[in-house]
Amino acid sequence: MDKKEVFILFNEHLGRGYSIYEKSFKTKGNFALFMVKGNKKKELVLTSKTDDKKGFDVIKKDKIKDYYFHFCELSHKNADTLKKIFPNLNPIPCLNKASFGTGDRLGITTPGHLRAFDNSKLFPFLAQQSVRENERTRRTWKDVLNDVVWGIFQEGYEGEFGADADHIKEEKDLLEAIAEGFTMFTIDPSDHVRELSKLSENQKNEIYQEILKKHNVNKYLEKTYKIDGKILNFDEKTLRDAAVVYFDAIEHVEKMYKVVKKKVKMFDFEISVDETETPTSPLFHIFIVEELRRRNVEFQNLALRFVGDWQKGIDYIGDIEEFRKEIKIHSEIARNFGGYKLSLHSGSDKFSVYKYFSESTEGFFHVKTAGTSYLEAIKIIAIHSPELYRKIHKFALKVFNKDKASYHVTTDLSKIPDIDLLKNQELPKLFEIDSVRQLIHITYGSVLNARNEKGEYLFRDNLYKIMFDYEEEYYDSIARHIGKHLELLGY
Ligand SMILES: [Zn+2]
Repeated sequence: MDKKEVFILFNEHLGRGYSIYEKSFKTKGNFALFMVKGNKKKELVLTSKTDDKKGFDVIKKDKIKDYYFHFCELSHKNADTLKKIFPNLNPIPCLNKASFGTGDRLGITTPGHLRAFDNSKLFPFLAQQSVRENERTRRTWKDVLNDVVWGIFQEGYEGEFGADADHIKEEKDLLEAIAEGFTMFTIDPSDHVRELSKLSENQKNEIYQEILKKHNVNKYLEKTYKIDGKILNFDEKTLRDAAVVYFDAIEHVEKMYKVVKKKVKMFDFEISVDETETPTSPLFHIFIVEELRRRNVEFQNLALRFVGDWQKGIDYIGDIEEFRKEIKIHSEIARNFGGYKLSLHSGSDKFSVYKYFSESTEGFFHVKTAGTSYLEAIKIIAIHSPELYRKIHKFALKVFNKDKASYHVTTDLSKIPDIDLLKNQELPKLFEIDSVRQLIHITYGSVLNARNEKGEYLFRDNLYKIMFDYEEEYYDSIARHIGKHLELLGY
């Protein structure tokens, strides 16, 4: 199959209303595949000198000279067929490499992410979505994975990638992610984490007595830990508190681990306790790891709740020097206990601390970003469809207070300028204001799902349409924006 010949034939005879994604061209045996962009949607084109559909669902067919051209929808079934032909389109476990996850709430960002990773040595988790994000965007694990597959194919990428089923709390969601072929499982046991501030001393003691009946965690009192040149020991109260906060949570993690272990041969496993009230102290970190080890839970990543304020879509808030000291100790603990990766959640836009995170972990880490790509998308809307942006913005203001409930943010809506007083060309500048970033960041679910009385989407279809028309500009902005993250992390 000669690429040039195929493209010339296609453009001359079928090309009206279509443009070819040239990088997508792939051959296999006696046929070739490539992706095209029509006026409203993208399609996969299968071409060969035989009338064989190779297992794809075909919507229309043409024959030009000796060549058959089969047009196929970007459906799940066709993605599955494509994955069988090109195994590199399947995610694989990352295991012991430094890595970076790029969530994509809209499912259209993978080509931009790939351009950001160009020349980077980080292992990319191109598919990464949390259960919460799936609920809010009404997407499934399968949607998430297949959107990535089409993005990879479009961009012609042949490297490796992982798929992270993020913030899983329930076994049901875990089983679904396993069935869909995800390669990383991030268990969020926060429903089983106890907050010390909500318990009296008596309650803590009672809970601790119950824990001691299950396992003699007391034995950690006898151990000393040499971390970063200092000796760390549990005293009774710290040990009790650590057990009260994390014991049940880790029991839950163990249960979830066994579920995966039974079904998947090789996988990445992460434990995330980042969404808790109080920062994870070094001794609490040690307790978690001791307990995981005792239960033979093999894990690649651990996401702690680090000091400072890790809000969505904006830079780190807090004492950078304090973070630097803490992260140094946590990194040392991770190395002492066998060298797993510390995982940084809410990693979007934390430009002021990446350097220290990268330094202290010696470049061995995992970072997760997600909402920042959505922000870049809405910025494209603000540039190319100011009317739509204004509607989204006003709608977001209405739903913000309800939507922020499950997020930790301190957004001050009074800092957001009155949009009616701004000219169209001033709208993109709004994204420099933290409060606007969070306003947009947090309301994505409501915005994407809002409908009128007739049941039509208020914004969703228009939003996707604009993004479709300006996708190249979007990819470039993502490449720059995520690229800046990678650069500061030293990759
Ligand atoms: Zn998280």
